Amino acid sequence: MKRMLVTGGAGFLGSHLCERLINDGHDVLCVDNFYTGRKANVSSLMMNPLFEIMRHDVCFPLYVEVDEIYNLACPASPVHYQFDPVQTTKTSVHGAINTLGLAKRVKAKIMQASTSEIYGDPEVHPQPEPYWGNVNPIGFRSCYDEGKRCAETLFFDYYRQHRLRIKVARIFNTYGPRMHPNDGRVVSNFIVQALQGKNITVYGKGSQTRSFCYVDDLIDGFVRLMDSPDTFTGPVNLGNPDEFSILELAEKVIQITESKSKIVYKPLPQDDPTQRQPDIKLARKTLKWKPQVKLEDGLKETIKYFRKLLSDPSALIDYQ
Ligand code: NAD
Ligand code: UDP
Ligand code: UDP
Repeated sequence: MKRMLVTGGAGFLGSHLCERLINDGHDVLCVDNFYTGRKANVSSLMMNPLFEIMRHDVCFPLYVEVDEIYNLACPASPVHYQFDPVQTTKTSVHGAINTLGLAKRVKAKIMQASTSEIYGDPEVHPQPEPYWGNVNPIGFRSCYDEGKRCAETLFFDYYRQHRLRIKVARIFNTYGPRMHPNDGRVVSNFIVQALQGKNITVYGKGSQTRSFCYVDDLIDGFVRLMDSPDTFTGPVNLGNPDEFSILELAEKVIQITESKSKIVYKPLPQDDPTQRQPDIKLARKTLKWKPQVKLEDGLKETIKYFRKLLSDPSALIDYQ
């Protein structure tokens, strides 16, 4: 049994990670300021003696004793990270400094939840880890992209300068139960719109592509990465290489939900990447990892979750 710290543990990915670590028999401390996360996401763990939750902002120092740290704290959807962009950069940068400082003091192993956004609007397709990216430093997405890039820099400087045991995961679009219903991300938007019989909002022509990874697959990648030999730091891409256009996704959601919703076209947001697909050769080779869940099956699970959420007004109040 190890003592695990999960920052951002009450969020979408964090709550699934806490669940997985508890199921593996570890002691889990979930730290979250509930900016985008919800206690309801971890309510099934609250009574478990292995689980503990602390309200705390990672921009401030944290003194606890742990063996491994998963640093996930950061709003992840454009709607949320652009709401308070200065706080977004602070969360990535101060959050990395504080969790790295903590890891240094207690000699813990530490993993950073980085992102495919560090590749920006890529000129190389699919994106392998050595690609440096094509990022606008002063645009609306920059608080997130550059914050995450700086966090990677800090991880590698603590590794070189202080010999920390680090792991950097570059996560590509992931979906599943407990996504925030109003965070504007494409999978949750389309599902909520389809279930409510509203128009499905495709931005641009819908020809831009994304590759969607189901949450259980991603969490398995996190754990494999943390358990990999200390010599392996990453960065490593984690995502599903099956690429779909946004229009194809809209059609799939309509078909599975049997919705009468119509597709409508809206303007494409600024700096919206035209294509994104992970090159996961490194993860396959080093972590023996590849996604198992097909988009259709993952969408069915996610739709089941949202059907239940949307039918429970008391649960929805938490998201207003
Ligand atoms: P999320 O918004 O559901 O989770 C983030 C969590 O961090 C929330 O619980 C939020 O309350 C918490 N948080 C935010 N600022 C904080 C702060 N200053 N102090 C403490 N807690 C704070 O998003 P998610 O999808 O679960 O993403 C988790 C991590 O994975 C993020 O770092 C994100 O950048 C990264 N990521 C996610 C995806 C994806 O597709 N979901 C893709 C790439 C990277
Ligand atoms: N820190 C923390 N918890 C700890 C140890 C450090 O939050 O257990 C914070 C501390 O506030 C510091 C940051 O991590 O600002 C970086 O720590 P480090 O030891 O690398 O640098 P220094 O303390 O010299 O600034
Ligand atoms: N998108 C869309 N309709 C929506 C929400 C998003 O067409 O209601 C598009 C968006 O423009 C982008 C893609 O779907 O091209 C993925 O958007 P998301 O915000 O989920 O993730 P990211 O852009 O960060 O990959």
